[in-house]
Amino acid sequence: MPLRLFNTLTRQVELFQPLQPGRVSLYTCGPTVYNYAHIGNFRTFLFEDLLRRWLEASGYDVFQIMNLTDVDDRTIAAAREKGVSLRDHVQHFIDAFHEDRQYLRIKDASAYPRATDYIRPMVVLVEGLLKKGVAYTGEDGSVYFLSRIETRELKTGASARVSSDEYPKEDARDFALWKAARPEDEQVGAAWDAPFGRGRPGWHLECSAMALALIGGHWGTDVLDIHAGGVDLIFPHHEDEIAQSCAYTGRNEFARYWLHGEFLNIRGTKMSKRFGNITTPRDLREDGVDAGAIRLLMFQTHYRQKLDLTDEALAGAREASRRLGEFQNRLLESRAELDSPSFLAAAGRLEQDLRDALDDDLNAPRGVAAVFAYMNEGHAAMDAGERPGPRAWAVWERTEDILRITSEIRAVRITGKAEIEVEDLTENIPADTAGAEAWARAWAVRRKQAKSERNFAEADRIRGVLKGAGWEVRDNRDGSVEVVRMTVAKEG
Ligand SMILES: [Zn+2]
Repeated sequence: MPLRLFNTLTRQVELFQPLQPGRVSLYTCGPTVYNYAHIGNFRTFLFEDLLRRWLEASGYDVFQIMNLTDVDDRTIAAAREKGVSLRDHVQHFIDAFHEDRQYLRIKDASAYPRATDYIRPMVVLVEGLLKKGVAYTGEDGSVYFLSRIETRELKTGASARVSSDEYPKEDARDFALWKAARPEDEQVGAAWDAPFGRGRPGWHLECSAMALALIGGHWGTDVLDIHAGGVDLIFPHHEDEIAQSCAYTGRNEFARYWLHGEFLNIRGTKMSKRFGNITTPRDLREDGVDAGAIRLLMFQTHYRQKLDLTDEALAGAREASRRLGEFQNRLLESRAELDSPSFLAAAGRLEQDLRDALDDDLNAPRGVAAVFAYMNEGHAAMDAGERPGPRAWAVWERTEDILRITSEIRAVRITGKAEIEVEDLTENIPADTAGAEAWARAWAVRRKQAKSERNFAEADRIRGVLKGAGWEVRDNRDGSVEVVRMTVAKEG
């Protein structure tokens, strides 16, 4: 079944047909780098990452652009507050964004244009609109787009962005393409010369100019296949992008498919109390959360549905992602030359179910359910002595390469004698990996002894010592004890 996507333009699920067979241009509105991007922003970026990965898995050559908004009202205000130049202020947050993105296993876009590197195409775009008579210079020296409401197609919601705009407007529907330079802009180096007056680009103009410059340069086109972002961008950002881009190119469309991800609400979490309802990926990383768990949490809800982030939901996702990690380890350890019949059948089902789910407007929750079904079938088959072969592993790997929801875990089972004499044990953790593992194992042995002596206070204390070092002790039903360390994946 071919890919179908919900298009905000038509409010329908449509068959996806790119302008050119086999290739897709994808523009995803990126972060405004005045501060750390929060986990809500990353919900959108993760949905876009899944879209990108699924398009590629479906055989498309994807050219993905994600802009970095490094000049706008917020970046200028933040730079002024700090008393540094705009360029200096945003660099730290650009670096932080990439760190967070890599932690969350979000693939590199083909291009990360910074708005301030594309002033020239923005000036050309404004000149073109002035020449066509669809833009005018206001009394304040700024250039506005003359809105013709009938050409606007996206109409929902509202954004604080418009009200936070400090510039006066003759008409509320006319938006600023180019904002005349104020002394405070000059102060932080956020003003550029242009034939129509010194100033800086408006936020909406930035995306249109960068998208057109980059797809023009890459594929010689002036219409995007897909434009994606959060629902809060539908109005006015995307509406304004459409209006000015179409007026400039003379085309009746700027992007063929408009995809929008829903909000993430942070509800009653400890994190929100700590950080005033702003949670960033770095908070989660500091808490030792594997990125697989965050991706799983996001993908368990369809991108067009609101999602509540709660401590319970996060804990559930961590546990589920950990179980996938254990399954992955077991699959690897049990690999054989040939697939058993049950594994062949299960792999076929996973492949088919994942394809059907993601082709159906990126139905990730259904895709995730297929992965867990595979896990359950796989465990049952291995319990019965069957073994996974090349196909069972390849299908798992391909699936994981699309979703990346599995926690990387290392489980050390307590078997035999601890390499460190329990008597010599201190709370100092050896620096090397093997030493640290032996250390954790030895502590787990000592804890088991304490428990057998009914010294539960000591057993709890040891649990705390291990936890402080990133290890978790688990008492299994069969009487064995495990120490498990959750490791945070580093690669993208
Ligand atoms: Zn944008």
